[in-house]
Amino acid sequence: MEHETEAAGQPAVDLSLAPPKGYRPAIPVQVKFTAVMRLDGRCALCGERLGEWKATEFDHVPALQARSWDPVAEDTIPAANDPEHITAAHKDCHETKTTGRQGESKLSRRGGDIAEINKTRRLEKARLEREAEIKAYRERLLATGDEPIELPDPKKKRKREWPKRPFPKRQKLN
Ligand SMILES: [Zn+2]
Repeated sequence: MEHETEAAGQPAVDLSLAPPKGYRPAIPVQVKFTAVMRLDGRCALCGERLGEWKATEFDHVPALQARSWDPVAEDTIPAANDPEHITAAHKDCHETKTTGRQGESKLSRRGGDIAEINKTRRLEKARLEREAEIKAYRERLLATGDEPIELPDPKKKRKREWPKRPFPKRQKLN
């Protein structure tokens, strides 16, 4: 970096400059990798493990358009592809966060409300699905009178709550 102008008592760059509109260089794979490692392989929004690369979204934090512009380096401050300022998130977490918003997302609100909501939603959804499965299973058992309902013997087999065969015989569909 050049600091010639500093000698004259002038700031090296004019911090009031904004980046050119639409400035958004592609993030190199190596930078993405470093960012993921820094996040310990976890989504910056919900904190759960990131999955496949194609289901991972990368974002600049703070938003590029919110940064100052260095006309000498022709880059933002900090540099657009500085891995310290790039986060990774699940695509669906990211979409939830950006829905209804304009411009760059607000990934910087890491661990904020939406991240919490996403996590709670996931857990609640999983719980409801399990409950619905159990309920549907019970109903199927009760509806088919010929189906042997193996109620667990509380004295003997506490571990096996359900019959070995998970679903009752289906009636032939015609
Ligand atoms: Zn996530």
